[in-house]
Amino acid sequence: MATGKIIVITAPSGSGKTTLVKRLLDSCPHLAFSISACTRKPRPGEIDGKDYYFYEENEFKAQIEKDAFVEWEMVYTGKYYGTLKSELQRIWNAGKSPLVDIDVQGALAIREKYPDICLTIFIEAPSLDILRERLRIRGTETDHSLEERINKASHELTFAPKFDRIVINEHLDKATSELIEIVEKFTRC
Ligand code: 5GP
Repeated sequence: MATGKIIVITAPSGSGKTTLVKRLLDSCPHLAFSISACTRKPRPGEIDGKDYYFYEENEFKAQIEKDAFVEWEMVYTGKYYGTLKSELQRIWNAGKSPLVDIDVQGALAIREKYPDICLTIFIEAPSLDILRERLRIRGTETDHSLEERINKASHELTFAPKFDRIVINEHLDKATSELIEIVEKFTRC
């Protein structure tokens, strides 16, 4: 089985991660986005097989039974997310390294499975107030799900020191260059 390296990025929703990940992928052609499976509904503009593999809950559970996941979790109430083994293999087979964008527990689970080839990066928003404001402006959440995301972010922050690197996304350009430099250094050696 051919394996390359794995870059794992974790960030609370609203931390600006999507933009950072996109910029990272644009500048590093040797990386490929690892498409997770999940059971939440697609947001407007999201495409099945590009942003996520959108599964029904019974399909997701069938994949768990088949041991198809490197890791999986119920990230939010009733919503399952997981990294498929076949997805990492697809990327390695293409001679690239997967960029895995998952939550804290998933990130630490992947590092435990692949300690020698994995780099974990935590993206931090400057403050929880800014995070709340960014989520409010994005407008994809109800009051309840927004609070659930803020609570998760606040809990996840306590795990940041367990990551190999922390990048604070206060200024997008600065955070982008920092991220690219960290990843280039890791993937080149
Ligand atoms: P969203 O619903 O905003 O796309 O993602 C919600 C959370 O699920 C984010 O923290 C995201 O990183 C996490 N997530 C996405 N894919 C996976 C996955 O495959 N496994 C785990 N454990 N978390 C994931």
